[in-house]
Amino acid sequence: MFVNILIVLIVFLIMEGVAFYTHKYVMHGYLWYLHKSHHRPREGMFEKNDWFAVLFAIPSILCIYSGYHNDTVLLWVGVGIACYCPAYFIFHDIIVHRRIKIKYKFSSRYMKRMIRAHQLHHSTSEKDDALSFGFLYVPKGLKLGI
Ligand SMILES: [Zn+2]
Ligand SMILES: [Zn+2]
Repeated sequence: MFVNILIVLIVFLIMEGVAFYTHKYVMHGYLWYLHKSHHRPREGMFEKNDWFAVLFAIPSILCIYSGYHNDTVLLWVGVGIACYCPAYFIFHDIIVHRRIKIKYKFSSRYMKRMIRAHQLHHSTSEKDDALSFGFLYVPKGLKLGI
C-alpha cells in the first residue's frame, strides 16, 4: 500500500510538469484555438478551454481501467492523474478564477504567490508572449511583484 501511495504522489507531482509543458507548448501552441477562450472574457458557463479537462481525463480513465482489470501499477498511475484534476480545478478555476463564487481571501505566502503567478500568466491575452505556465508550483525566480 505504501508503494501505491508513493506512486500516486509521484504521478501527481509529475502531472504539474505535464500541465506546465502542455500549457506552454500545446495550449499556447497548436491547440491555442481551444485555450484562447481562457484568455478572453468567458461567455456563459463553459469555455472551449474546458475540453482540456476532458482530454486529461482520458489517460487517467484508460490507466485505471487497464490497471484494475490486469492488476497492474497502472491503476495507481491513473489515480495519480485523477487526483491532479480536482487540485487543478480547485486552485485554478475556483481560487484564482472564482468560477464558483467564494469570498474567502487567501493570505498564506504560498497561496498569494500561486494566485499572483497565474494572474501574471493572464496579463496577456496573446498566444506568444505569455509567462508563468505552471499551476500549483511557482518557481522561486519568477518576478511576481509581491
Ligand atoms: Zn494560458
Ligand atoms: Zn487561468
